[in-house]
Amino acid sequence: MKTLLSALKKAENAVILPHKSADGDAIASCIALGKLLLRWGIPYTICLEEPVRSDLAFLGGDFAVLEDRVPVPHTAIAVDCGDAARLGERLPLFEGAKVKLVIDHHVTNEGFGDVCVVDPSAAATAEIIAGLFDLAGEPFEDAASPLYTGLVTDTGGFRFSNTTPKTLRVAAQLMEAGAESGKICLAVFEENPLEKIRLEAAVMHEMTICHNGKTAVATVTEALLSETGASDEDTSHLSGLLRGIRGVETGVLLREKDGQIKISMRTSQVLDAAAFCKTFGGGGHARAAGATVEGDISVWKEEIIKRIGEAYGRHC
Ligand code: AMP
Ligand code: MN
Ligand code: MN
Repeated sequence: MKTLLSALKKAENAVILPHKSADGDAIASCIALGKLLLRWGIPYTICLEEPVRSDLAFLGGDFAVLEDRVPVPHTAIAVDCGDAARLGERLPLFEGAKVKLVIDHHVTNEGFGDVCVVDPSAAATAEIIAGLFDLAGEPFEDAASPLYTGLVTDTGGFRFSNTTPKTLRVAAQLMEAGAESGKICLAVFEENPLEKIRLEAAVMHEMTICHNGKTAVATVTEALLSETGASDEDTSHLSGLLRGIRGVETGVLLREKDGQIKISMRTSQVLDAAAFCKTFGGGGHARAAGATVEGDISVWKEEIIKRIGEAYGRHC
């Protein structure tokens, strides 16, 4: 952490890079980190692969996207990003930088920068960045709400098993520093677009239950998205919903995206989701992981079901 802190302070300018399809933790961690750099007078840009998700717009923040042709910085910081491939088209910005830093909490992160702080015991990258504020002796102030948003989104409102006593202590400090918990939770959990709910209904109607009720698998095709009017960001909660059916150990959502298939997996107790998804070139955490593959979605659905069955066989 100390090495990271001094590397950050020495940055002449910085580009902050969250993983592609940036979620609440990724976006909020970048915003908070940017506020820290600003206090030290370091110019920075947060560069995203795609425009920010609409449910995170309440956080504010200025973002560049790929098209903005951000120049290669002195220091590049990959945030909440488990491996270099998840930087997508922005990889050259990272690779070209003089100093490459990694701040992350994915168990599958092997460290791909000059200085890497990877703490899989942290519930969110925001928890690590909150620690950075502490270490730097900087008050949270305007970073309190973004950091709280990171914690709340990656823990599903402090319900998932990644939530630790430390997470709750950090959350309490952030609330004391002014994070508006109720307002943040309303924005990220309680204001769902109608299209998202229509998609949810269709997916839950069509899902497949197998392995004696232990596995729930569903697919979202491009056609279903246009039928329901839902967008890609409206799919991110569906694997958790599948996992949340009583008796289900593993919930998997497969969705078509840009000619590829994105696999999203949630597990309860038995399967190590990160290890499972790593076999498809993906990664993540023990209870929440993902991968991106090529091919036909219904063929992949059968393949995933088969491999989950085999994995149960090894574990039961
Ligand atoms: P998701 O199911 O997309 O919400 O992702 C769950 C977790 O797995 C997140 O922590 C992601 O960072 C990670 N993850 C998702 N997709 C991939 C991928 N293609 N490669 C590596 N990690 C992934
Ligand atoms: Mn993330
Ligand atoms: Mn995260």
